[in-house]
Amino acid sequence: MSTTTHGHQFINGSYRVGGGKTVERINPATGESDGSIDYASLADLNDAVNAAAAAFPGWSKLTPGARSDHLLNFARELGARSRELAELETRQCGKTIRMSTEFDVPGTLDNITFFAGAARHLTGLAAGDYAGNSTSMIRREAIGVIGSISPWNYPLQMAAWKILPAIAAGNTIVLKPSELTPGTSLIFAEAAHAAGIPAGVINIVVGAGADIGEALVRHPLVVMSSFTGSTAVGRHIMAMAAETGKRVHLELGGKAPLVVFKDADVEAAAHGAVAGSTINAGQDCTAATRAYVHVSLFDAFTTRVAELMDSMILGDPTDPNTDMGSLISYPHREKITAMVDRARAAGATVLAGGRAPDHPGAFYRPTLITSAAQDSEIVQAEVFGPVLVALPFETEDEAITLANDTPFGLAASAWTRDVNLAMRVAAEIQAGCVWINEHIPIVSEMPHGGYKASGFGKDMSAYSFEEYTNIKHVLISH
Ligand code: NAD
Repeated sequence: MSTTTHGHQFINGSYRVGGGKTVERINPATGESDGSIDYASLADLNDAVNAAAAAFPGWSKLTPGARSDHLLNFARELGARSRELAELETRQCGKTIRMSTEFDVPGTLDNITFFAGAARHLTGLAAGDYAGNSTSMIRREAIGVIGSISPWNYPLQMAAWKILPAIAAGNTIVLKPSELTPGTSLIFAEAAHAAGIPAGVINIVVGAGADIGEALVRHPLVVMSSFTGSTAVGRHIMAMAAETGKRVHLELGGKAPLVVFKDADVEAAAHGAVAGSTINAGQDCTAATRAYVHVSLFDAFTTRVAELMDSMILGDPTDPNTDMGSLISYPHREKITAMVDRARAAGATVLAGGRAPDHPGAFYRPTLITSAAQDSEIVQAEVFGPVLVALPFETEDEAITLANDTPFGLAASAWTRDVNLAMRVAAEIQAGCVWINEHIPIVSEMPHGGYKASGFGKDMSAYSFEEYTNIKHVLISH
């Protein structure tokens, strides 16, 4: 990792070795050591926030066109490091090189160019004479130093989703990536600086959530906490931010349903279910986790899903032929194993997987479970692994009720050839995204965000500017 010799903090335009403890990293796909990571001290964090605060007046006063030019240069600079980014992402997360190369890196570059364009459309409405003999208008203004915290499942893309709308709108930022996978976030900040984005606009501090993460949320110069991660930590962050009345944006957990109606193309739905439940080894907040299948298709669907899952190649994630890489860590695999074992003990049937393969690394076979109770843990709680539960339904109302019967509301899919049914379901499902005859695609132009326990606020798209700007009414009397 190119950053090891320089340290793992990127503060005010340069690398430094953090003053906190040093922690060994394990490559989850091999179980072997992958060097060590230095954590930030509270003094490092303070320097990062102060650097962001010092950079704010200059960066926020640039014209949108100037910020856009910086982002276009940045896209070229980062694009030149695509291979290095993909290899590092695979080594730190255990995800397949195919995924890093075809999804994580190009998705990030697309996000940069999207926000380079969006920065130039950051306008308010010029409006009319509401008060008599006056003109009212709206200004959208950057709010200051953003403190962001991101998870380990898509480290590069999550850094991009947090940093880009914030800086495109004129804010400056301190990001604390997951301490398990900080490498590509550091390269992201380094490349931005190399491309001419001024020192202090993007700062990265690495450390444990419970100390550096909490200190970032509580720092008095941080005006907003923007978080992607688990629902439990998100709620804790909201409580901490409430103490000082800080703005909060939370992208939290998910438990996405995939609903297969009786007129669906069952082959397409089975492929969608396998792709949707095994993407990133199931460690995806929008992954398909609960398949509700019309009773007339249930056997055909589950047989086909089990066949497709059993045929997936698990193994060396650097091999382009590998279909699914490892989980993030051995402890995470233990958590998933225990959840599947408890489902089995409660009477559920495991039709595929339900076990680790015989080779080293934190791998777990793609798993299909049936005959679980709707109110059981495996149906209600986030597993965050390649585990799909399939349950039958008979009526449209029942399908929608079951799909909505979860604390979460991030994403869902419905499979049908009936456009009227598709529109009814899209309206009734309580989730921030509903796919019809698809499960997973995300695009930079469209918002991503949750309902219910999946959080609030939007990443990506021009809607994300709502999180990162203040709206001011200006009235001119004449
Ligand atoms: P996590 O909540 O354990 O950690 C996320 C981040 O929060 C890490 O950087 C961690 O260090 C930090 N953190 C932990 N405790 C903290 C504390 N007390 N104060 C401040 N920061 C703290 O989540 P994870 O295991 O890294 O990621 C998996 C979770 O993320 C899943 O629940 C998944 O659904 C969710 N996720 C959601 C989205 C989305 O867009 N909604 C996207 C990706 C992942």
